[in-house]
Amino acid sequence: MKILVINAGSSSLKYQFIDMETEKVIAKGLCERIGIDGKFTYKTDSVKIDAVDAAMPDHSAAIKIVLDALVDEKNGVIKSMKEIDAVGHRIVHGGEAFNSSVLLTDDVLNVIEGLNELAPLHNPANLTGVKACKQVMGDIPMVGVFDTAFHQTMPAEAFMYALPYEDYEKLHIRRYGFHGTSHNYVSKRAIKMLGKPVEDTKIITCHLGNGSSITAVKGGKSIDTSMGFTPLAGVPMGTRSGDIDPAIITYLMKKHDLDAKGVDTYINKNSGVQGISGLSSDFRDLDKAAAEGDKRAQLAVNTFTYNVKKYIGAYAAALNGVDAIVFTAGVGENDREVRKQILTGLEYLGVDVDFDYNENCPRGEEVDIAKKDSKVRVFVIPTNEELMIAMDTASIVSK
Ligand code: ADP
Repeated sequence: MKILVINAGSSSLKYQFIDMETEKVIAKGLCERIGIDGKFTYKTDSVKIDAVDAAMPDHSAAIKIVLDALVDEKNGVIKSMKEIDAVGHRIVHGGEAFNSSVLLTDDVLNVIEGLNELAPLHNPANLTGVKACKQVMGDIPMVGVFDTAFHQTMPAEAFMYALPYEDYEKLHIRRYGFHGTSHNYVSKRAIKMLGKPVEDTKIITCHLGNGSSITAVKGGKSIDTSMGFTPLAGVPMGTRSGDIDPAIITYLMKKHDLDAKGVDTYINKNSGVQGISGLSSDFRDLDKAAAEGDKRAQLAVNTFTYNVKKYIGAYAAALNGVDAIVFTAGVGENDREVRKQILTGLEYLGVDVDFDYNENCPRGEEVDIAKKDSKVRVFVIPTNEELMIAMDTASIVSK
């Protein structure tokens, strides 16, 4: 079975074409600047087309360019569109309506459209991608995979905010959590690596990238997660504040004379490790500057790692113990110094890290950086959200 995975944004569309027999990516790339001047990238084992000009006035035109490339006589990987068995779409917000991936029928699309208010930047763009595919690809089955779905198993005490209950009912204000596809994927891998029955497993997954979130996974199910009503909550991120005292919002509005949009930009775009360091949102820049003695860069990294450690402690309490801590995404997979800071001083939990191996372990592979006798395993697992989307899609269309 061959699955096309689509992640559509407002002016971009990323794609991967995956052969499920081998779980290998046969072709991948992206369309950028849709509706502007159009750039197309396409890569296979033997072909590399990098950000070439391509007219794409809308998402349908972009999809057509992707399909033309896949079936192209010279550079393509299939003979006809019929070889695409299904399309898996990343959809950011499934609200309380979706606790798993779903076949995208017209009724389902209407329900998703009703959730647009909860993710006004992402869901409408995701839906545009689905509609464009339907228009161009006819009856090839389409599946929606939601960032929020994995977290729908959280118990009410974990997802409720202490606000008037009516606004949970009327306005749907609650914790949803995000990065669910990644937490789902790496926790499943970790369960395999632990070799225990799934129902006996307690895992803390740390997805640390440009956006970061931590999840407590018990018996394979999310029971709590650090992001909330939006992906702004939890640990500090590249440019997002993470958890702050909510009263700071109105204080900032008064002091900086900001309206709702202004304060939104302040906490989403000008905060996080970028805000503290005044230098960069990228941990590579911060690590380098900190090593050269930049105090604010060091403070930014320290604030980040301290907050991740706090969440690990909180989730160890929520889980009543922990079998494995997992690091994934850009920072979690690559930043050995950040991992070291987070993992130092967790002996009380039974975490005993091989810090030499943390420095020297291979990149891009699943590794265990805990010492042999450590009570808690510490895994670095490369995330693969596209493969998870493709696996869900394959499983739904095979039914
Ligand atoms: P996104 O949340 O956008 O998907 P990623 O998971 O790709 O982000 O993470 C991107 C971030 O990973 C970069 O901003 C950078 O901070 C960090 N990163 C990537 N490679 C390294 C590295 N070698 N060392 C430290 N940090 C890295």
